[in-house]
Amino acid sequence: MPTSRDPHKGDFVHYVLPSNAHRPAIVVRVFPSEDAARMALIDLTVFLDGRNDAVELLVLRDGGKEMGVPPSSIWVPQVSYEMAGGVTSWHWPDECSGHDND
Ligand SMILES: [Zn+2]
Repeated sequence: MPTSRDPHKGDFVHYVLPSNAHRPAIVVRVFPSEDAARMALIDLTVFLDGRNDAVELLVLRDGGKEMGVPPSSIWVPQVSYEMAGGVTSWHWPDECSGHDND
């Protein structure tokens, strides 16, 4: 199912981590599509919940014990839209209100 509206650079969306947690993200690139029914592919800068997310994503090694300040954001390329909010997909923030508990 295609997105209800076209994403543009600078838009705020949600990205779903492998843990199913939703994180805010900014659209940094939109891939043009000739087919309107195709899902929108975008590159994102995703804002993390500090060490909690960084450890899970293996950005930090050894549980983060030997690291300093965890990264506050990660770059995630070519993310596809999914209204249902499946892992490693993006959606509009108002499409998941009430379902984002962490
Ligand atoms: Zn969400």
